[in-house]
Amino acid sequence: MVSNADSKKKFPKRELNWPKVLFYIHLNVLGLYGLFVLFTNTFFLTILFTFVLSGFGALGVTAGSHRLWAHQTYTANKALKIFLMICQTLVGQGSIYNWVRLHRLHHKKFGTPEDPLYSGKDFFSAHVRAQLENLSPEQEKDLEEIDMKDLEEDKIVMFQKRWYWLLFLVCQVLLPINSPLEYWGDSVPAALFVAFSLRYLITLNIAWLVNSAHFIWALNSNFKPSDSNSIFIITKTYWPQYHYLLPCDYQTGEFGDYGADLTTIWIRIFAAMGNATNLKTITSEAVRVGLTNAVETDGDVVECIKSAAAVKQGELPNDHYLNASKFM
Ligand SMILES: [Zn+2]
Repeated sequence: MVSNADSKKKFPKRELNWPKVLFYIHLNVLGLYGLFVLFTNTFFLTILFTFVLSGFGALGVTAGSHRLWAHQTYTANKALKIFLMICQTLVGQGSIYNWVRLHRLHHKKFGTPEDPLYSGKDFFSAHVRAQLENLSPEQEKDLEEIDMKDLEEDKIVMFQKRWYWLLFLVCQVLLPINSPLEYWGDSVPAALFVAFSLRYLITLNIAWLVNSAHFIWALNSNFKPSDSNSIFIITKTYWPQYHYLLPCDYQTGEFGDYGADLTTIWIRIFAAMGNATNLKTITSEAVRVGLTNAVETDGDVVECIKSAAAVKQGELPNDHYLNASKFM
């Protein structure tokens, strides 16, 4: 998605955040040691516990802070919001409020040097370097200007923001370390290095991929099909481009095909249980009408598709997610 010309742009100077650098060095060393402990000295229950909690963490980011809070692609009731808030806390990536603010700025500045998540540079910068640096003064200013009124009116988001470090200590540190020791008698190294360090490393990397995966999985205009078996090539898709143009769609393509990935399936399950309502999507019909309107009125393509999608959304039955292929 980034051309050679784009990659030569001048990026703002940013200071390294040394406490973060040291923290991530330790987390990587301890997490990788956790991988060794996992294969040599860990109960099966602890391994299961580690991967189930990692899955909940990923759900907290993709269905929670990304689809629900950053892009408002569906409405959640209180019970679902509390569940997703706890899941998001299990990632240890900071509060939902701060994550959403940065993600909205990332969308706004996507592909430009001002994007704090380096979407105009390369995968390493987006995935690693952006986590280790402070924002430039201009980026801090841009961040302050992001409209966050919707989240400021959300009591659960603001509760998590206020009590984040206490929730982090309980959900992300104490419970995951204590459970293997207390409930099924596993060893201290298994609890510390597998259930905590390795899990933390896994969930953080999954969460960072939300903002960096477009470098790997997005197609670009220079892409030439290859006969390589590399998974990075055979799974390439235009889905990331679609997301950055039209983010208001509950159907995702992060862990599976568009409309059939894990996060999408979970949101449909929440809806079927009555916890999620007003699932927004953009049908092919809406894209067709939007493109026609753009040609006929000489209007902005994205704005025309958004308007058509809003009209077509009103024509969809409330339970369209139960028969998604019919309303694609
Ligand atoms: Zn997004």
